Parts: sequence; C-alpha cells; structure tokens
Amino acid sequence: MSETEEVKAFYKEKHIAFVVDQDSHRSFEYWLSEHLRMNGLYWGVVSLVIMNALEDALPQNEVIDYILSCWDEKTGGFGAFPKHDAHILSTTSALQVLKIYDNELQVLGEEKKEQTAQFIKGLQLSDGSFQGDRFGEVDTRFIYTAMLSLSLLDELTIEITDPAIKFVMACQNFDGAFGMLPGAESHAAQVFTCIGALAVTDNLHLLDDDTKLGNWLSERQVLPSGGLNGRPEKLPDVCYSWWVLSSLAILKKKHWIDLQKLEDFILECQDSKDGGIGDRPDNQTDIYHTCFGIAGLSLIDFEKYNFKEIDPIYCMPTEVTKKFRKWKK
Ligand SMILES: [Zn+2]
Repeated sequence: MSETEEVKAFYKEKHIAFVVDQDSHRSFEYWLSEHLRMNGLYWGVVSLVIMNALEDALPQNEVIDYILSCWDEKTGGFGAFPKHDAHILSTTSALQVLKIYDNELQVLGEEKKEQTAQFIKGLQLSDGSFQGDRFGEVDTRFIYTAMLSLSLLDELTIEITDPAIKFVMACQNFDGAFGMLPGAESHAAQVFTCIGALAVTDNLHLLDDDTKLGNWLSERQVLPSGGLNGRPEKLPDVCYSWWVLSSLAILKKKHWIDLQKLEDFILECQDSKDGGIGDRPDNQTDIYHTCFGIAGLSLIDFEKYNFKEIDPIYCMPTEVTKKFRKWKK
C-alpha cells in the first residue's frame, strides 16, 4: 500500500473513555448543559451500544435510576434533569435509552407508561403539529419525537398520526426538502425529522416522487472534503452525516453520495489523542458529534467497524427496534 492510500484508524477505546468521562468532567460547560443532560445521556448510550461497548462501560442500574429520577410527576413526562419540567425531547431520549436496556419498558411500569403517552398526546395542537412542552414552541422535530415516542410505547393511532402527517407534508418545499414549519427554509435536520415521522407511521408512500428530495440530499456533500452540510453554501459538519445519510438510507438512496469520502471526513474529525469526534477536523469534540459520527459510520459500514447496525428511522440498534411491533395500520 502506498502512503497516499493510508487507511485512517478508528480510535474505539479512546472514544469509549471519552463518553464514559463525560459525567466526571464536571466542567462549567457541563453544568450549563443541564437542559441537555437527558439528550446527552442518550448520545452517550447510543455511541457505546453501537460500538458494542455499553455493558462494560456504564453501570446499567445507575443509568436507569438517573432516568427515573427525571420523571416529572406534575405532567407525566421526563425532564432533562431531576426536578426540571418535562419536555418532549428529554422524554424521547429517556424512552429510547430505557428501551435499549429493557425492551418491554418494565422498569417504567404500566401507570407511568400510560401517563407518558398522555403527556405526549396532550402536546398535539388542532393543526396536527406538536409543541415541545406546554409553553408552545412548534417545530417538525416535535412531531418526529412524538411519533417515535408513541411508537416505542405502542400508542400510535390514526387519530394522532393523520393530522400530524398532514402537517409534515405541508412543510415540504418546492425543492423537495422540508422546513420546520410550512413555508420555512429547507434544512437537512428537518428533512430527517419529517422523513422519520413518515417512516415511523408507515407513510413514506406520500412522497410520490422522491427524486427531487434525493437530489437535494445528495447535493449536501461538500467536495473535496466529503463531509455533508445542512443547507446550501454552509460548511460540512459531522452531525449531518446522520441527518442526511439516515434520510437517504430511509429513502434507499445511500449510494447517491460518495460514502468513502464521507467515511474519511468523519474519521478526520476524531481527536486521536483524547477521543471523541468534533463537527470538523481539528475542532473541539463533544458527545453530540461523537454520537452522530459513530451513527454515521454504522450506516456506512457497520460490519467493517464491528459495530451494531443502526436503524436509520429510530437512531437505535436494529437489534432493539426489530423486537417491537412497528406501526402497520
Ligand atoms: Zn453539527
């Protein structure tokens, strides 16, 4: 092999240590991130489980106890941190982590499962959209997380999905991509949430021609770096390896981009000394980009890395998602 064909390494052990150490850093930034703590836990657990390292790296009982301590009795959902108000994003993350450990959600119990479903259903507005919490922000992200959470709880019904999906379809733009609200600018993360909501509810057929959308998604690859961006004219960023590639995977169009170049870009964003993955080469690493970099590598070639296969719709291992009943009505 010549020097120009040098194969880039994946620093698995360093990434495991990086994820596990998140909780012990206790930096100022860490405490500032209280409102993201439950999401952070999900990003860490997904990173580890995909690398086949969850069991040895994190104490399962402590993780589950932490999640249960974030239960908000007033509203019946999960907050990001103990005593925080429930929000749909932290509720989704809590359910995803619990489901990875315990497919039947037995640890939650029937009563809390029911209350969680009621909390989510109560966030739906008359136009089909969802608020993140009772304070009223609306975004297609919340429709996706609501559909996903209700699917994890086996609580999806047509009364909920029909208006929600109508709202999602109203967010599609002339370029084939989606925004956060009807008429809002197309953005790759919003494409993922809209395609994901369609996929969870078995409504992908509503995209009668997905060529335009596939083209828009594949134009997100920035050359020569090979990384993906979220909108035209923006810099590539590792997290779009997930938002864009998972959307293409759901549409069965992964091969519409150069996967080798994307793989190289993700590997270049690793910190070879301290572990973790940043948004771009040589930038500060964080748990969010570490998770979506690893998730992206799993979508590209999970066997090569000896990873678990990831489900592009749920961002959880397929060995977990294939066990529960998918929405088929
Ligand atoms: Zn990013």
